[in-house]
Amino acid sequence: MARCIYCGSRGGFWSEICADCKKLLARVKELRGRVGYGEFLDGLEATGVVKGKIKTFLQADPDGKGSIQDQVTAEMASELMKVMGLKGNQSPQDVKRIRKMVEKQSR
Ligand SMILES: [Zn+2]
Repeated sequence: MARCIYCGSRGGFWSEICADCKKLLARVKELRGRVGYGEFLDGLEATGVVKGKIKTFLQADPDGKGSIQDQVTAEMASELMKVMGLKGNQSPQDVKRIRKMVEKQSR
């Protein structure tokens, strides 16, 4: 039996992603680029997956491209910068700073 590449739980019987993370991943695809961070988190919680698992899922980095949380935050940040007329990619440091800002606002 394989372990889930996102949350590390057993139970990925026929795939490397467990049922919960599969649900979350589908929801991420649906939501990313369309909603703010707070709504994004609400949308993930609406799947019924426990909060702790969502957190683990968001922070997982199975393919080394950055965690889903950082990818989504970077997208939102770039979008925000575009709206404000600023161009350019955000460095990981910027993303971390912006993420803290966004998280504070969403609570
Ligand atoms: Zn999982």
